[in-house]
Amino acid sequence: MAQIRLDKFISERTEYSRSQIKDLAAKGRITVDGAAVRRSDVKIDPELSAVTVCGQEICSSRYRYILLNKPQGYVCSTDDKDGETVMKLIPPEMRTKGMFPAGRLDKDSMGALLLTDDGELAHRMLSPRHHIPKIYIVQLARPFENNYVNKFREGLTLADGETCLPALVKSVENCDKLAFIQLHEGKYHQVKRMFASVGNHVELLVRVSLGALVLPEKLAIGQCMELLHKDVENLF
Ligand code: URA
Repeated sequence: MAQIRLDKFISERTEYSRSQIKDLAAKGRITVDGAAVRRSDVKIDPELSAVTVCGQEICSSRYRYILLNKPQGYVCSTDDKDGETVMKLIPPEMRTKGMFPAGRLDKDSMGALLLTDDGELAHRMLSPRHHIPKIYIVQLARPFENNYVNKFREGLTLADGETCLPALVKSVENCDKLAFIQLHEGKYHQVKRMFASVGNHVELLVRVSLGALVLPEKLAIGQCMELLHKDVENLF
């Protein structure tokens, strides 16, 4: 990558404006290769230099990929008309202007959510053509029944007549109200509606994986981590 101005590099990869970057540099909050730089108009080669803002490393790649362990109470949107959004949970040094949640979890659902500014990847991920498998763990109101396994495998019909692709379900050993479900599609409230169609009720839903991307145990609820392009390119 050619040399570019430090403030341009940071403003393209975070939500900081150039004037905020100038102030942060003056306060010694921006480092290049470990040393504070007091001016934001210096030129750097982002591929050769490590840049940090407020202690957070700024990734040199064109797009950002963030894995969030979504807590309950946040909506998967960039628009806060329906309540606080998951964007609030992403620290400003990790957020970029075009970033959005690539996929949906209900406001009361938890777990793995990818946020990115890579529109093409998000589009491929959400496209029904790709059927990227998603695994959820659910807490049910009533005990799991063994007949669910065949019903889900054969493709359920929901209350409104919509049909689902075959899905795998299994109960968690010694916890008859906990179950895993793997889906290859993403209809509105799908997991909740599927269990409702067999007379049960989902009390809590946690997404534990998105394709090959598994929610790491060490990622606490409400925390997020940066992923590299190579972590997401094999999702399909
Ligand atoms: N299915 C649901 O019902 N809710 C979610 O949040 C995700 C899948």
